[in-house]
Amino acid sequence: MGELTAANRRWVLAGRPRGMVDEQTVRLDTGERPEPDTGQALAAVRWLSIDPTIRTWMDDRPGYMPPIGLGEVVRGAGIADVTDSRSDRYAVGDLLYGMTGWQEWVLAGPGEQSMQVLPAGIEPGAALNVLGVNGMTAWFGLLEVGAMQAGDCVVVSAAAGATGSLVGQIARLKGAGRVVGIAGGPEKCAWVTDTLGFDAAVDYRADGLAAALRRQCAQGIDLYFDNVGGAILDVCLGQLAMRGRVVLCGAISLYNATEPQPGPANLVNLIPRRGRMEGFIILDYRDRFLPAQMELAAWMADGRIVHAEHVVHGLERAPEALNMLFSGANTGKVVVEL
Ligand code: NDP
Repeated sequence: MGELTAANRRWVLAGRPRGMVDEQTVRLDTGERPEPDTGQALAAVRWLSIDPTIRTWMDDRPGYMPPIGLGEVVRGAGIADVTDSRSDRYAVGDLLYGMTGWQEWVLAGPGEQSMQVLPAGIEPGAALNVLGVNGMTAWFGLLEVGAMQAGDCVVVSAAAGATGSLVGQIARLKGAGRVVGIAGGPEKCAWVTDTLGFDAAVDYRADGLAAALRRQCAQGIDLYFDNVGGAILDVCLGQLAMRGRVVLCGAISLYNATEPQPGPANLVNLIPRRGRMEGFIILDYRDRFLPAQMELAAWMADGRIVHAEHVVHGLERAPEALNMLFSGANTGKVVVEL
């Protein structure tokens, strides 16, 4: 844990990115540590959740949230530790989950961030990953949007990442017939099968993705959970089984694109296959998280589900941590520990 001072170091958005985030995009500056008002608490940020969507908020484009304004602190979720409280809701020592932003200090309470107190005993890594946005995205995307049925052949891309690694494990525990991951490189593929227990993994960086998938899903893909979009989505659309479903969770292969990208040529395969493709944003399901979190917590306690955090140390490394999601340098959930 770094030394905290009366200053507040923070990453602000300096310019709109073209491609990956670089020194033109974000600037580390120093402001003053805020003071809590009546009803508010001051908290020291300890962990940042590094999510691909942060890159999309940096563009000046309409989305499910407004773009981050130039000069504003980079938006992002995290966990912070209450150091001073003028609120009945938060006590010194509480760990709070919410939109901390990429900075050292955050105010919680009226007029500031609304933050949730983490229940005692929940480890921060799990709170940001399997019990947080990634676990919920995997759960509702697979079971509700994708309407997974027992026996389905389920394929998921970015399978060694935070969301994908959980999608495959939930599918297995909920009775999928076959679970196949798509990931970059032999090491990630080995992790997906040997540690996460997927039936198979296909390396999309090697030649022959379409042929390899066809071998793994001989009867076609019943459910494709898409984290990446682009060429991989196209290949999977071309191999849908009858009444196959495609869950559009994310399109990470497109987030750094500087020009508009073509849509998938195999889209028309949805017609003869009577298929369905649907996007979703996990925030729409937040009132229903608790039962899913309880089941995931029970599986974690029994050792039936594995979650991995890829920890990057130091606020100054937050931009590098974000870029890791695009280069594929991460295995599991990327978090920055301050
Ligand atoms: P991950 O931990 O999965 O990290 C991203 C992974 O994507 C990388 O490790 C990399 O793995 C893979 N990747 C990057 N670029 C490419 C590419 N060009 N082609 C194929 N794979 C690529 O991140 P998250 O789990 O946080 O997010 C996964 C997806 O889920 C994202 O698209 C994100 O936007 C989406 N998401 C959507 C939500 C929703 O509400 N709809 C909520 C949360 C996440 P590899 O080495 O295998 O290439």
